[in-house]
Amino acid sequence: MKWAWKIASFAEIQIFVHATFVVIPALVLLETLAGGASLGVALSAVFFVLAVFGCVLLHELGHALMAARYGIGTRRITLLPIGGLAQLERMPEKPRQELAVALAGPVVNVVIAASLFLGMKLAGGFQNVESLSVISSSWTVKLMVANIVLVLFNLLPAFPMDGGRVVRALLAMRMPHRRATRIAASLGQTIAIFLGVVGFFTNWFLMLVAFFVYFAARAELFHVESNPTSSELQSETIVGDSVRTVSTRVTQSPIYSNPKNSVGL
Ligand SMILES: [Zn+2]
Repeated sequence: MKWAWKIASFAEIQIFVHATFVVIPALVLLETLAGGASLGVALSAVFFVLAVFGCVLLHELGHALMAARYGIGTRRITLLPIGGLAQLERMPEKPRQELAVALAGPVVNVVIAASLFLGMKLAGGFQNVESLSVISSSWTVKLMVANIVLVLFNLLPAFPMDGGRVVRALLAMRMPHRRATRIAASLGQTIAIFLGVVGFFTNWFLMLVAFFVYFAARAELFHVESNPTSSELQSETIVGDSVRTVSTRVTQSPIYSNPKNSVGL
C-alpha cells in the first residue's frame, strides 16, 4: 500500500499507518474546538479516538496471532482513517481454525472491555467516585463502551465480517466448504441490504459499511463460483475492520475480505 508508514513491528508482523490517517485526529480536534471546547478537552477527545484505534490494532493483532498459531503469516496490518486492515496469507482450511481466527479479534475487545470494567470497579472500591477525575472516569467508560460496540458490530453474522466467518466455519463443519460459503455470503448480503436501509434513515457511515459488506460478500461468492476446482482458502485474505469515531459516537464495521483482487478499503 502506498503512502503508508511503518510504525512498529510485533512478532514479525509489520504495522503501518496510512498517510490519510492524520485526517482523523485533525477532524476530531477541529470539530471539538469548533464546538466551543477548551484545548484540553479537544486534546482529550483526540487521545480517546487514538485509544479506540489502538484497540482496533489490538483486535487485528488478535486475528494475526491466532492465524500465526496455524502457521499462517500476516503480511502487514495497516491503520486507515476508517479502520484496520490485516493482510493474512490465507484463511485456515479447517473450519475449527477459521472459527478461532475469526473470534480472536472480538475476544481481544471483550478482554479490554472486561479489564476496564474491573479497573473501574477496583478504583471505585478504594476511593469514592467523586475523587476520580470526571474526564478520566467518563473516558474509561467511553472506551469500554467503544470496545463493546466493536464486539457486537463485528459479530453480526454478515459475512465476510467476523460474525459471518463464524457462521461459515460452523456451517463448514457440517457441509462442504463451498456450500457453507454460499449460505454465509447470501446471509451476509441480506443483512447488508437491511443495514443499508437502516443506514439510509440514520447514519451514512452505516450505509457505507453495508455497501462494503454487500460487495465483499458478492466478491467471495464470485470467487467460489468461478474457481470450481481450487479452494477459495488458498489465496490472500484481507481482514479489514473498519471503525469511525467522532467524539462519543463509535461505530464499528466490517471485516471485509476479498480474495485474489484485494480491493482494499
Ligand atoms: Zn475482526
